[in-house]
This record gives sequence, C-alpha cells and structure tokens, in this order.
Amino acid sequence: MRLQIGSAFGIPVYLHWTLVLVPLLFLQGPLDSNLALVAAIAVPLTFLCVILHEFGHALVARCFGVPTRDITLYPIGGVARLEKMPEKPLEEFLIAIAGPAVNVVIALILAPFAILLAFGSDLNLLTTLVFWLLISNGMLVAFNLLPAFPMDGGRVLRAVLAAWLGFYRGTVAAVITGRVVGVLMALAGLFLFHNYMLLLIVLFVFFAGQQELMYARWREGQRLRREEMLDIPEVLPAHPLGDHDHHDNAVHEPPLILQPRVSVYIWDQQTGTWLPENRSPLKSPL
Ligand SMILES: [Zn+2]
Repeated sequence: MRLQIGSAFGIPVYLHWTLVLVPLLFLQGPLDSNLALVAAIAVPLTFLCVILHEFGHALVARCFGVPTRDITLYPIGGVARLEKMPEKPLEEFLIAIAGPAVNVVIALILAPFAILLAFGSDLNLLTTLVFWLLISNGMLVAFNLLPAFPMDGGRVLRAVLAAWLGFYRGTVAAVITGRVVGVLMALAGLFLFHNYMLLLIVLFVFFAGQQELMYARWREGQRLRREEMLDIPEVLPAHPLGDHDHHDNAVHEPPLILQPRVSVYIWDQQTGTWLPENRSPLKSPL
C-alpha cells in the first residue's frame, strides 16, 4: 500500500504506508515545541534528499538505456526499481555510485553555509536545519557505501570485482565480503554500542546477498546456455544407432556419449579418389 506524491522525469514517486511510523518516533518522548518544529521541517527535507539520491540512480541508469519503473520511500530509505540490471560492470558502477554522489554534492553545497552559521552567536532554527541536513547527507553517504548488498556499496564492490573476475564470481566475492562486514557490524553493534538495530541490518544483508547470488546463478546459467548454443559442435552418437540389436539387455546399454563429428578422408589408390574413412576399402572387413 503506497501513496503517489508526484513524479519527475516520467518516474512516479510513492510513499510507503510504513512512513506513518516516522512521526510516531517523535511522539515517544516529552514533546518539546522547538524540537517538534525542527523535526517537522527537517524530516521531510531529509526524505527529499533520499528522493534526490534515488533520482541520481534513475537518471544515470536512463543514460545507459535502463528505465526506472518507480521510486518508493520507506522509513529506512528509498528504492528506485530499475527495469533490468545493467549488463556491463562500468554501467552498474556508475549507476550505484550516482546515488551517494548526489548526497556528496548536497553536503558540499551545505558545508559553506554550515561554516558561516557556526560562527554565528545563537543556535537558531536555520542553523539546526543546516547542520541536521549536513549530518544526515553525510550519514546517507557512509551508510549507502557500506560494501554489502542491498546497499549501493555492495553494487559498487560487485562492479569492481565483476570487471576483474566476471559477473558470477564477482557477485560471490561481493556477497561473502558483505556478509563478513555485516557480521562485524553486528558484533560491534552488540558489544560496543549495545545497539540491536544493527542485527536487523545484518539480516537484510544476508537476505539481499542470497537474492543476488540466486540472480547471478540464473544469469550465469543463461550465459552458459547461450554460449553452448553458439558453438555447439555437430554431434553424433558414439555408437551407430542401428546397433541396438546386438544388445540383448537394455540395462547394459552404454550411455549415449556425444562427441564431435570428425570427417576423415583417406586416399584410395585403386580408384584414385578421396573416400570417407568409413567407406575406405582399407577399413572394410574382408
Ligand atoms: Zn542508493
């Protein structure tokens, strides 16, 4: 269940219903009117930064001929649904990096204002908002660049590894790396920060990694099948087809072995011509 809030570049943008939970988070503690005002402006602006991040992915994907079906905002972030996965590692790399790059640009635009405001005397609403957005964009970059699926960093890592190892082996290496990073994050969360939310993220990492592995396996199967169809050799059974009568028990039938058909011609001195090997007088039983 989701609500369309608009569209840009022909891509509809939706809010997922679970976003109604976000204001509830702010209603937990004692309600400070200043904090409520800051949150009421800052939270939608943060989600706007997330939407811009997703458009970063979508517009770079469009440059490579990959359309985006839609963009949906969830409480933990946004998702741009691309119609297909880019084939080339460089394309995947650029599409994946485009999202965090948008947040880097926003942070770079906000940084001079933050520096100017930091020298101001009082902490007003504008200063709080600028710092909030600067920090949240920095966090978006850091979180999204974690080298684990489903984060953008997982795709960046896979693209780099795929350029080197090929798509399938690159995906396996990226998923293993992501899982190691995930487990380390979970351990750090538990023992250093006593934060159990990180365990949830690790579950996401394992699930998303599994999805990527399944897709990579399927794609590798398709590739191998295509290759087989392209250079399948002309094949003949290893034993003549009419030979079955000699076997009285079908169980002992040797398995049908496919082997390339090689035509061998032998010079027949009697007729002065080239003859196929099986018709050569040299091989015919006397
Ligand atoms: Zn992203």
